[in-house]
Amino acid sequence: MPVNALFRDDFYLSTCEAVVTAVHEDGGIELDQTCFYATSGGQPGDTGFLERTDGSKITLGQTRNGAAKDIIIHVPLEGEALPAIGEKLVLHVDWPRRYKLMRMHTACHLLSVVCPYPITGAAVGEEESRVDFDMTDTIDKDEVTAKLMALVSENHPVYLQWITDEELAANPGIVKSKNVRPPIGLGRVSLVCIGENSAIDSQPCGGTHVSETQEVGQIHIAKIEKKGKENRRFRIRFGAPDDNA
Ligand SMILES: [Zn+2]
Repeated sequence: MPVNALFRDDFYLSTCEAVVTAVHEDGGIELDQTCFYATSGGQPGDTGFLERTDGSKITLGQTRNGAAKDIIIHVPLEGEALPAIGEKLVLHVDWPRRYKLMRMHTACHLLSVVCPYPITGAAVGEEESRVDFDMTDTIDKDEVTAKLMALVSENHPVYLQWITDEELAANPGIVKSKNVRPPIGLGRVSLVCIGENSAIDSQPCGGTHVSETQEVGQIHIAKIEKKGKENRRFRIRFGAPDDNA
């Protein structure tokens, strides 16, 4: 059943109420609405727990999409109790983890501004993220870190603009990713805009992001690896460069 994905309109929603609409044989739980982000676009799905009316918890190990993009499956850890269809629950996202992912995900967008090359892959992580670029140039990682931190401290607003799938199809040039599919299939696509009037960047993305670049905090490029002739893999980590020296 299509879910009301509340996180799409409020990235900072860490808790909400919901009613169970389906329980799959493998234990996957569907809800009428959710604040749990499902794995996609390089960002891992949320973990956390579902609180039952008796106060007991169902701990979730992951959140993923079902067969369609508008289906979200909440997957409990093995051995967890399962709720009944129609049961009311209170959802609690593991917020410290999700907030790190939001900061990291936003950092990946900033990196694509500093390095304006086609993106061939990306993976957002709690401690480290990686972005692969189709590029042959050699770049100094400390220089990239300095440019990233300038964008962070300038504190640009980060916000969404919605366009239709058709508008995106008519403007393929706005997609920077070569291999990561833009978040189409829901009828509308969110453009993640950075800076007033998208002055810094605008990119289709269905992930969760912070609302000001300053929230990204201190980050640095830990490594730039050569992956094939035309590929460079950038690893972003939290903290100052000296932390890993
Ligand atoms: Zn994004």
